[in-house]
Amino acid sequence: MRWGLRSRGPGAAAVAVARSRWGPPWSPRLPPVRAASGAGDLAASPDRGRYRDTVLLPRTAFPMRLPGRRQPDTELEIQQKCGFSELYSWQRERKVKTEFCLHDGPPYANGDPHVGHALNKILKDIANRYHMMRGSKIHFVPGWDCHGLPIEIKVLSELGGKAQNLSVMEIREKARSFAQAAIEKQKSAFIRWGIMADWNNCYYTFDGKYEAKQLRLFYQMYDKGLVYRSYKPVFWSPSSRTALAEAELEYNPEHASRSVYVTFPLRTPPLKLASLLDGAAPVSVLVWTTQPWTVPANQAVCYSPQSRYAVVKCSTSGDRYIVAADKVTSLASTLDTTFEVISTFSGIDLEGGACGHPLIPDKVSPLLPATHVTVAQGTGLVHTAPAHGMEDYGVAAQHSLPVVLLCTWPSLFILQDDCSVDEGGIFTAAAGPELESKAVLEEGTDEVIKMLQSVKSLLKEETLIHSYPYDWRTKQPVIIRASKQWFVKISDIKPAAQEALKTVKFIPATALNTMADMLERRPYWCISRQRAWGVPIPVFHHRARDECLISSQTVEHIAKLVEQHGSDVWWTLPPEQLLPKEVLSQLGGPDGLEYLPGQDILDIWFDSGTSWSCVLPGAEQRADLYLEGRDQLGGWFQSSLLTSIAARKKAPFRTVMVHGFTLGEKGEKMSKSLGNVLDPDVIISGGQDQIAEPPYGVDVLRWWVAASNIFTEVTLGPSALSAARDDINKLRNTLRFLLGNVAGFTPETDSVPVDSMYLIDQYMLHLLQGLASKVTDAYKQYDFGKVVRLLQAFYTRELSNFYFSIIKDRLYCEKEDDPKRRSCQTALAQILDVLVRAFAPILPHLAEEVFQHLPYGTEPKSVFRTGWISTSSIWKKPGLEEAVESACAMRDSFLGSIPGRNAAEYEVTIVIEPGLLFEIIEMLQAEETSSASQLSELTMASQCTLLAQEPRQRPADVTELAGTFLIDLEGGDIREECSYKVLVTRATKEKCPRCWRHTAELAGALCPRCAGVVGGA
Ligand SMILES: [Zn+2]
Repeated sequence: MRWGLRSRGPGAAAVAVARSRWGPPWSPRLPPVRAASGAGDLAASPDRGRYRDTVLLPRTAFPMRLPGRRQPDTELEIQQKCGFSELYSWQRERKVKTEFCLHDGPPYANGDPHVGHALNKILKDIANRYHMMRGSKIHFVPGWDCHGLPIEIKVLSELGGKAQNLSVMEIREKARSFAQAAIEKQKSAFIRWGIMADWNNCYYTFDGKYEAKQLRLFYQMYDKGLVYRSYKPVFWSPSSRTALAEAELEYNPEHASRSVYVTFPLRTPPLKLASLLDGAAPVSVLVWTTQPWTVPANQAVCYSPQSRYAVVKCSTSGDRYIVAADKVTSLASTLDTTFEVISTFSGIDLEGGACGHPLIPDKVSPLLPATHVTVAQGTGLVHTAPAHGMEDYGVAAQHSLPVVLLCTWPSLFILQDDCSVDEGGIFTAAAGPELESKAVLEEGTDEVIKMLQSVKSLLKEETLIHSYPYDWRTKQPVIIRASKQWFVKISDIKPAAQEALKTVKFIPATALNTMADMLERRPYWCISRQRAWGVPIPVFHHRARDECLISSQTVEHIAKLVEQHGSDVWWTLPPEQLLPKEVLSQLGGPDGLEYLPGQDILDIWFDSGTSWSCVLPGAEQRADLYLEGRDQLGGWFQSSLLTSIAARKKAPFRTVMVHGFTLGEKGEKMSKSLGNVLDPDVIISGGQDQIAEPPYGVDVLRWWVAASNIFTEVTLGPSALSAARDDINKLRNTLRFLLGNVAGFTPETDSVPVDSMYLIDQYMLHLLQGLASKVTDAYKQYDFGKVVRLLQAFYTRELSNFYFSIIKDRLYCEKEDDPKRRSCQTALAQILDVLVRAFAPILPHLAEEVFQHLPYGTEPKSVFRTGWISTSSIWKKPGLEEAVESACAMRDSFLGSIPGRNAAEYEVTIVIEPGLLFEIIEMLQAEETSSASQLSELTMASQCTLLAQEPRQRPADVTELAGTFLIDLEGGDIREECSYKVLVTRATKEKCPRCWRHTAELAGALCPRCAGVVGGA
């Protein structure tokens, strides 16, 4: 029997890339005639009992499903048995040329593992396992972000009242052990999730070596002039004499402020309004503020360029003011007067104008456009004191205004950059003699109001009850006060960073714009914090003078100490030991030392942003992939880029992949109060009530991650989990069928050469080749959702619904070593191998479980140690598509005509006029009539007859079906629409008690094929 392509007709060469108008042959979907993969159906018949032992049913111990605890338990066994924990070092030791480096963004060490961690770490693991199987050496060193305020606050709040008396070192020790506990918890969860990584050599931002590298990088940037010290407003608590973070504020909705309406005399009219404001009568700009004490620190008045403004004349005083046009009426009523509108104009016309300062002679306050100005409250013109307001500071940064009060009191010598409010919230000498030593929120405010009154700048004062920030510990109001901070000069780094981003691939591509926009809008990067739990800024300050001490020698000395003992030395060693001997002696020795270690620590974004310099391998120190949540576009991706550009003018990553956040099932945020927080441990091992919260195992979680559209928000809840489990169970069924039917097959000795295989089997290998290349391509693009979709389509459509439904007769009823059966097993073994490797990166436990059940030996018995999918180019036989798909078209006509019936009860006659289609179909059946041909297997009928013309006689009960098939060969060079007829009749032969096909000559007797098999057995 010849199964290969015939040499006549279109032939193997001629039957080239072919596409038919028909979709896949099993579409439109027809109900499968028999259960697709139910291996037990043949054994069920009592009739068949006699022959049961002669039928080759699938044999495998691979379970159909793993109910209850068996799923997580099996996973743990597999992890042990297949050496999950040794896989990383095993693959590192391989002698391979390529390396794939995924740099782990460090999760924050302050809480239990959550599903967001799972999403991130599993995505990374899928990428790593794929590259590892393809033959790259994986570099993946997991890390943790260990410092910072959230940890410090958590530790302090747990201590309650005792917290206030803690020393820096006590806080640091408690914070460290808190972080360590969180790390251990997270790490063991990540290992349980099957994440392959260098778990013995993780990186921690509180590690001495890590901190030392960071200090050196800080100095490198300082040395290049990219780090400087300047004023910046921060929330400041006068009652506890410290800066506060947002998290340490409590808002008091009943706070009473003394709000004031103040005039600023217009000195330089804006160019566009010059004719209007001819100088005949003075004009003032009217502002409103709830913090009168900040008026002395005024540096500008801001307006909204989009709003309308008006020049009005006050009916009471005759004075002229500029106010927002929308506010004219309400302001007049507030001030108990009426305004006559002289003129209105657009905000942009105010450009170029400048006011005088009401309290400081000769000081100029320019009129500046600002986006934060609205006309909802106040006058539409905003008093701007950069030392005492965040938005004010933004305006100052944009227009290069000084932040703090400059030398303005002619009679006094004042340091140029000293804040006029001290740490206790008291006006300093810089604020002038009238204000000096007065508390800004109390008598300082009284005094400023008095001064404004005396210069006739105060139009009105009133009490305002509003929500105002208080210190969470002292319950006293806070102020905003500029203090000296360290900054990275973003403006000097930005151009190179923007240039470097062009060399980076972003997935999805739109993330590049988001990151570039965020970078563009970033005015400054303040890298200092006034806290205990972090890496110290390695700078000494003079006791009396505003002088810093920092040099390559001092930083190197500190870095060496930190490398050995950790950054605690900054607080535990006396200052003279923190300085190198030479420097110390230059400064007059230990007794004469006038410098003290600074109390600032580095921003944790600086901490984690320098991880590339500590973790990335090789001289180049550039990762192939950074893969984090979308929030890192303004966070870690950015701080990593900025520090890397500052140090060496190149990006630390080649590809940046960004994923969305995990949300509850209906797209709502996961929160404790909503009760929709899913604990990964409960998902994996089950909850208290194992029916309500069944143990899914981690492969379900991994499948959910891979199948989700990770580029948007990713939703997770009970129904998503149970859907993922159903998907995996379908896959398990497919795998079980494959495993059961390759029992007794030894690939080395039993495989049939491709060209000698059944055409249908060759066709399956052809499809398999296509699947393998598409799956590989999807992995290459990190499109794991596409991998899942491709696999699902393959194992449900191509395998279960089509291939598995037609090959059972060959597998179960032919002789064990019949070449027809071996041909099918050759295909099944290849399908099994490709499938397992294709899903292995996503479902490593299931993949290894399948490998343990392979009936033939592989060495080693681990899918991850035996490489990626290998297919053969000789599998590619596009010409076969025409043969199989045209036959399937006929089969579908036939099956459609006998809905719900068993196809084996019928015979089929196919009539095709002589020509291309006839020749193609003839490849599947050389004889005119056959019950053993490939055509009869495909149609599932008991017998097929292939005719070139209609039969002269036809039975009375014939059903006649007609159809056409478009043959498209040679890339469209050969196109022919061919018609065919399918004549369906009831089978005339008897049902064979062994194979159930109607192919027996006598009732109760075996068919000739079965007789041969049983007789010969
Ligand atoms: Zn039979």
